[in-house]
Amino acid sequence: MNEVDTIIIGLGLAGCSMYWSLKKAGIKCLCIDPNIKNTSSKVAAGMYNPIVGKRFTTAPNATELFDSAKKYYNSIEKIIGEKIYFEIPLYMPFQNIAHQNDWSLKMPKLKEWIHDNPELEQTLLAKYESEFGGFFVNKTGYVDSNLYVKSTFDYCRKNNELLIENIDYNKLNIETKTYNNYQAKNIIFCEGANVLNNPFIKQKFLNLAKGQLLCGISTSALPKIIYNGKIYIIPTSENGFICGATYEWDYINNEPDEFGKKYLINELNKIVKFEYTISNHKAAIRPTVIDRKPIVGNINSESIYILNGLGTKGVVLAPYLASLITENITNNSEISKEFSIERFNNK
Ligand SMILES: Cc1cc2nc3c(=O)[nH]c(=O)nc-3n(C[C@H](O)[C@H](O)[C@H](O)COP(=O)(O)OP(=O)(O)OC[C@H]3O[C@@H](n4cnc5c(N)ncnc54)[C@H](O)[C@@H]3O)c2cc1C
Repeated sequence: MNEVDTIIIGLGLAGCSMYWSLKKAGIKCLCIDPNIKNTSSKVAAGMYNPIVGKRFTTAPNATELFDSAKKYYNSIEKIIGEKIYFEIPLYMPFQNIAHQNDWSLKMPKLKEWIHDNPELEQTLLAKYESEFGGFFVNKTGYVDSNLYVKSTFDYCRKNNELLIENIDYNKLNIETKTYNNYQAKNIIFCEGANVLNNPFIKQKFLNLAKGQLLCGISTSALPKIIYNGKIYIIPTSENGFICGATYEWDYINNEPDEFGKKYLINELNKIVKFEYTISNHKAAIRPTVIDRKPIVGNINSESIYILNGLGTKGVVLAPYLASLITENITNNSEISKEFSIERFNNK
């Protein structure tokens, strides 16, 4: 038997953050991932923005969350030797007068998170429409989640810490914590939407959402600003951009399709003042939870864990939530019950 401290099943944003967090704590891992092409983490735009949705809400611990995510990705960049964390100003345009009015009411509570930048706004307006005005948000940008996941995968492979396969659940014994000829102390499930096929997890907590996005190339240079309205446009190089995303609760498969393409191009054409061509079209299924909160903690036994349900905020949530599991393994510190899978025990 080969002995490892922890087996991590799935190397998306959840599994990668788990791997690095445990590694930093000196815990030896074995990761298992089949290297599928269109996973949520490989397709994601990776945008981070502390102000959420039409109602302009922020998480109570947003400062801590966003500052620690920055520190985390910067530290991983040093290990993998790739730039993955990009800080870019983000502009949120108002959708209509009602949206603008709602904003005026919420603004006093959000002062820490926003700023005016008339000069930058002029630069933006040269390329994008914004009929009702808008505002800039602090601590924004994107993580190249595809590169992050691929680099972590390569790192694990080089260090002989990876099995490239779909786990065979019939060969996994969660009582003895063995898989084939591996003996572990802990097992952590991080399979994203594929958790639906995990026979050890009976609770039905996912409300999956298909997402599609387009990659485009503008005929002229784009401002280094993220436009985050009904759709978002993220500049990824001088002329390149990502445009997303659809939220489809009723879908047939996880492939890019005409519906997604038409929707995004239609919205894009209402906003942009530049000519462009589409260079790529991607789709994946987001592991979104019914109550919109992630699933973090033990299942059944003390040494079997799950990290899932990252939803639309994967890049910021994953490092923080992974650290909660690491703290639990190393110091026995408690993981808040609000993330527990037990809330779905009778569902
Ligand atoms: C179009 C789109 C845009 C998005 N944009 C953003 C964004 O801008 N910002 C943001 O923060 N989030 C965004 N997200 C959400 C984000 O992608 C997810 O929150 C995150 O990727 C989920 O990570 P995960 O590791 O839980 O799941 P996944 O990325 O699905 O990873 C699961 C991993 O498990 C592996 N796996 C599955 N089954 C098995 C098995 N049986 N054995 C072994 N391994 C297995 C898979 O190969 C995969 O690598 C977006 C998602 C989509 C689809």
